[in-house]
Order: sequence, then structure tokens, then C-alpha cells
Amino acid sequence: MAELKRVLIANRGEIAIRIANAAAALGIESVAVYAPADARSLHTRSATVACALDEVEGNPVGAYLDIDALLAIAAETGCDCVHPGYGFLAESAAFAERCAAAGLVFIGPPPAALALFGDKVRARAFAAELDVPVVPGSKSPIAKAAEAAECAAGLGYPVLLKAAAGGGGRGMREVASAGGMAEAFARCQSEAEAAFGSGAVFVEKLIARPRHIEVQVLADDCGNVVHLHERDCSIQLRHQKVVEAAPAPGLDDALRQRILDAAVRLAERSGYANAGTVEFLATPEDGGYYFIECNPRIQVEHTVTEQVTGFDLVEAQFRIAAGAGLAALGLPSQGAVPAPRGFAVQARVVARGAGSLRAYKEPAGAGVRVDGSGYVGYAPPPAFDPLLAKVVCSSNSSGTFASALERAARALDEFHIDGLATNLGQLKAILRHPDVRAGDARTTLLGEETALLAPPASAAAENGTVALLRQQATLAGLAGMVGSANGESTAAPAATLTPKPGEQAVTCPMAGSVLEVRVREGDAVVAGQTLLIVSAMKMESQVTAPCAGAVTAAQPLSPGDSVEAGRVVATIAPPAEGAAAEETPAASDDSWAPLLGDIAAMQRLALQRLAPGSDDPGVVRQRSRGKLTCRERIDLLLDAGSFREIGSVAGFASYGEDGTVEAFTPANHVGGTGRIDGRGAI
Ligand code: ADP
Ligand code: ADP
Ligand code: MG
Repeated sequence: MAELKRVLIANRGEIAIRIANAAAALGIESVAVYAPADARSLHTRSATVACALDEVEGNPVGAYLDIDALLAIAAETGCDCVHPGYGFLAESAAFAERCAAAGLVFIGPPPAALALFGDKVRARAFAAELDVPVVPGSKSPIAKAAEAAECAAGLGYPVLLKAAAGGGGRGMREVASAGGMAEAFARCQSEAEAAFGSGAVFVEKLIARPRHIEVQVLADDCGNVVHLHERDCSIQLRHQKVVEAAPAPGLDDALRQRILDAAVRLAERSGYANAGTVEFLATPEDGGYYFIECNPRIQVEHTVTEQVTGFDLVEAQFRIAAGAGLAALGLPSQGAVPAPRGFAVQARVVARGAGSLRAYKEPAGAGVRVDGSGYVGYAPPPAFDPLLAKVVCSSNSSGTFASALERAARALDEFHIDGLATNLGQLKAILRHPDVRAGDARTTLLGEETALLAPPASAAAENGTVALLRQQATLAGLAGMVGSANGESTAAPAATLTPKPGEQAVTCPMAGSVLEVRVREGDAVVAGQTLLIVSAMKMESQVTAPCAGAVTAAQPLSPGDSVEAGRVVATIAPPAEGAAAEETPAASDDSWAPLLGDIAAMQRLALQRLAPGSDDPGVVRQRSRGKLTCRERIDLLLDAGSFREIGSVAGFASYGEDGTVEAFTPANHVGGTGRIDGRGAI
């Protein structure tokens, strides 16, 4: 048996973290990789080391698909195995082969099994040979719309056009009648080509209102196979799973057993190894079940199986890849597999739109597991899967499905996320839907119940804990500080406004979204006049004029736009004093000159005091403790030269007899705006 010492994790986000943790628990070191957009993603910190991947021009996910780069990193960092996670290269036979050729153990099934199950048409034919029922449909890929129409006429409409290489719910199109075939076929084919690099398309009869039932299998290199029961993944949005459960509630035992047996047969006969999932559609009304595909990898929803069996599937993946047999894993036969204990329900919390997290606190407690990758300040890169966290909840000691649902709903109530739109409200509404409660959700549920697509505000009613967190975050001013420190993905792009000499800047003190704009270039304003109303952390705040005068420039903002903290939204030229001044504009400059001179003197003295070699007692004491001054910290933190100090003259000045500044003790507080890695910060 090979001893694995270091794994390359060819993935990102929560599953990369999950894999790194499983590896660590086995004493295996891990190497994370990250695309440039993911430099601050949490998975880069959970592995032993993290290596940057180069950006692939024109393809944001390309970095994670760059086999040469991944293998080079594996070689440089001394890896002996590769875990591909899900998505990306997880089902690539070519990648598995390249890993093997490079002497790396691929943690997954052999390339032949990947190739078989990577092609849904081949997989269907294989299942049919084993007398596993498949959805009625075409037996080979279809090249022309006319051929698809002929096949569909034989099956009877409605049908589903599917990409042979499809995955992740993509590359599927329903066709209701012959009239829609030509158009649907052309679009399905070109989508499949673009998304999966293969335009191979086939036809299946559309099964009416099925349940999605899938079986977790585990196989070793010696051909031993067991299943770890089934999951129900019927709650889907556009063919993508949203809420999953294990085991399938209320499923007829005889039907369940036929599905489990079929899955094990498929794994046994395909030379399968490692963890995999065999997916079926079931129609409980007539006891029907149909194989749809096999996913030869760990799945997003493996968690619910782990929670009801107490068996760590990712750890098992490592051990099987290292050569352990099922017996060594404590599963010498099907009878040794623990019976499911109660139920577990997983809700996928996803971001809906771009932005950065201003608050993020996961639920916790008995029976609550969260596999997530969010944190305050994180801005999920829009190019990737928007999954933020998987909330996985188990039933209480009653062991009922209802108690697992209830716990999941309560956990979601406790999830505090701000700064980003999410599907939390929708998930809560789903978990409380009568069909879901009855354990009889169908894959069509979200399509049929439009109320679940846009749940009413009451579904998102806030619980007391979250209300307190939100209030405290607002009080702490977190909204503005964090919002600006972590990217401006929500901010409307705008040129920077810089006040000209003598002008004053109107600065938006907090990050938020614009509710109302009351300022335009050329307006005459009085000091304290409201120029902008911004909504931040659910509170409305006014941005007011710092002085009276004429607005010389204003950002072209509209309601709904986002603004970051510290953004100069307008500039104001204060009026010259008296009519005479108006006639001779230079006079106004003169009137400011002494004050500007004082400010410059104070700034100079403040900087001298903190300069290297300063003998100021406060600075000497700070240094003797091995600490940096506030300005040195700012210099270290911010991009060079980007710091724009606001109120640098806060402090105490001493004036000489002639009125000039002689000494200046700056307050121990420096404020301003700058940039961190090119992004705004305050
Ligand atoms: P993917 O590879 O994208 O996961 P699947 O073939 O597993 O694609 O199908 C995903 C989902 O699409 C299923 O869970 C089901 O809801 C729906 N679906 C797929 N095939 C059919 C079908 N023939 N009839 C009805 N629904 C289907
Ligand atoms: P699971 O059954 O594990 O939930 P999904 O079909 O939902 O599997 O896919 C898991 C993840 O992998 C999703 O984030 C999906 O976007 C991605 N994915 C799966 N298959 C493919 C594929 N062939 N191409 C691109 N992405 C995929
Ligand atoms: Mg599937």
C-alpha cells in the first residue's frame, strides 16, 4: 500500500478546504492552487502551501483546467497524489492519465471508468446491457435536428435534449412539441460545444414530475463494491441541486432496494474504484426508476451521507487511492455499512450577484455542520461557482425527516450574511414548503411553485440573533470599513474626483447603495445641505456639503449605484468673500494662504515626529517595544504612495507670539484613504 504524503488539490472553494482538512486528519500535507482572482480565497490558507496559477487569457476558469501547470506544481512541491474535487478536471480521463504518467496517484476511478461515465450516451448503453432501466431515448448521439425529431416522435413529446458530455445541470433543453425541435436542437448543440467542447447531443423522454434519487457507492481496487445508501436531490433549480437529503424520505422500500442494487451492479461491472454516485429518476406512482448518469467523483452533497452514516467519504477516497481495500475501511461487506441514522438535509447557500461580504457568521450547534468558504470582506469572484456554504443539518433524537428540515430552517435563520444577495430567503421558503415537509418533493417543484422563486419578505424574516449582529455591525461602522477594504465589485465605475486648490471634497463616509442624488454640477449649496442619500447596512445616511459654495464637479451617480467608503462624490468651490473678491478671484486664494501655510507646517512637524530616528518620547517608547508607528503600519499595508490623509492636522498645535505654528502634537489617530492591492481602503 502506497503511503501518501502530499496531495495537490486541483480545485478551489469549499471542496478544496474539505479535502485539505481530510488530508490533514490523515497526516497528509496539501498543496492548494489558485487562479489570480482567488488569491484571497480561503482555500489558499487551509492547505499546507498554496501556489499561484497563471491566468488563462479569455477563460477565467482556465487556470484550474491547465493540466501542464497543475502537474508542474505537483512536481515542484513534491506531491505524490492529486485530488480533483468536483467540477473542473474531476471527470477528465485525460487528466487522470496524465497524473498516472507523471507518477501521481489520481484520487478517483481509473481513466476507463471516467471515459465511460463522461459520455452519457455510452453510460446509458452500458446500463441497458446490465438490464438497468434507462430513460427511453436515443441509443447514439444525434447529429441533425431531423433525426432528433424522428426519435422524439417515436418517444412521444415532451422530450429532453441533452449534451452527452453535460454536467452541472447545463446543456439540457426541454422540447414540448415537434415545432420547437429545430430551434432547440441548434441551441443545445452550440451550447454543448461551447460549454463542454463536444457538440454531441442525444434525446431522452421527459419523465413527468420524477424524484431524483442517487446512490453513493464506494469501490476498492479489487472490485469490491458497497453502497452507502441513497440521497434525494429532487429540489432543483434549472436542473441544479439546491437542497439534498439522505436517506430519501418516504421512499418505498422495494423501489429503494432495486435502485441500490442497480447502482452496485453498475459499479461492479464497470471496473469502478473509489467514490462515485449513480443517479436515477424515480416515479413512485408506478414504481419506475431510470438510470440517468454516473458521477465518477465526490459530489457536492456527499455531506448528507456522511452525517447519517458517520463515515468520512473524503478520507475513504484517500485511503482507497492509497490501496486500502473496503475491508480495511471497516466495510468488508454490504452488511457492515451502517444503517442511516435519522436524516440529514443540506441547503446550498449561494451568492446571487457580485459584491463583498460585509458580514458572515455561520450557524452552529448540535446537529449543524457547515462546509463553507465565506468570510467578512470576501468578494466571491463572479467567474466561479457562487456556492458560499453548505448548511448540513441532522434530525434530532426523534430521527424524523421533519426534525432535520426544521433544524436546517432554523440554522438558515441564524446565518448572518450581509453585503451580498443570497438565496437564503428562498431556501427557508423551500424547507417550509408542504411538499418538502411531506418528503415528496419533485424535480419540478421550483418550476411549478413560482412563489418559491421569489419568496415573500416574511420568508426572510430575521431572527433575534441576526438582528442583533446586524445592528452591532452597523454601530461598529463595519459596513463602510469592510465594504471599502475589499474590492469595489459593487461600486459603480467612476473617474476619481480630485478637488482643485481651494475646493472642498464631498466624501461619502460609508459604503452603500445610492438611494437619492440631490447634487448636480453647477448647483449652489449651503453648508450641511444634503447632497446624497446612501443606504448602508439597511440604514439611510445623508452625505452633506462640508461648506457653502458652487458644485464644480459631481460623480454621475444614480439611484441603485454602489459607492465605496471614501469616494469623493462632488467638489465644491467655496464662494469668494465679498463682491470685491468675486471681481478679483486671486483675492480668495490670498485669504486661504495663511491657513494653508499653517497646515503645511503642522503636517511637516507631524511627519518629523514620526520619522526614522525621531527622539520623540512616544515614538521611542513604541520602538523599544518592537512596534511600528501608525504611519509605518499604513505604509506597509497600503500600495506605495496611495495614502491620502484626511485630517492630518488633527492634534494640538502651539503657536509662537507672531502666530506661526511652533510645535505640533498629532493625535494618535491617522485617517485617510488608500489602496490595498489596487483596491480602495479606508
Ligand atoms: P447533469 O449531468 O447536468 O447532472 P443529469 O442527467 O444528471 O444532468 O440531469 C440533471 C437533472 O435534470 C435531473 O436531476 C433531473 O431533474 C433533470 N432530468 C434529466 N433527465 C431528465 C429526464 N429524462 N426527464 C426529466 N428530467 C430529467
Ligand atoms: P453534484 O451532483 O455533485 O451536486 P453537480 O452536477 O451539481 O454535481 O455539479 C457539481 C459541481 O461541478 C457544480 O458546481 C457544477 O457547476 C460543476 N460541474 C459538474 N459537472 C460539470 C461539467 N461537466 N462541466 C462543468 N462543470 C461541472
Ligand atoms: Mg446529474
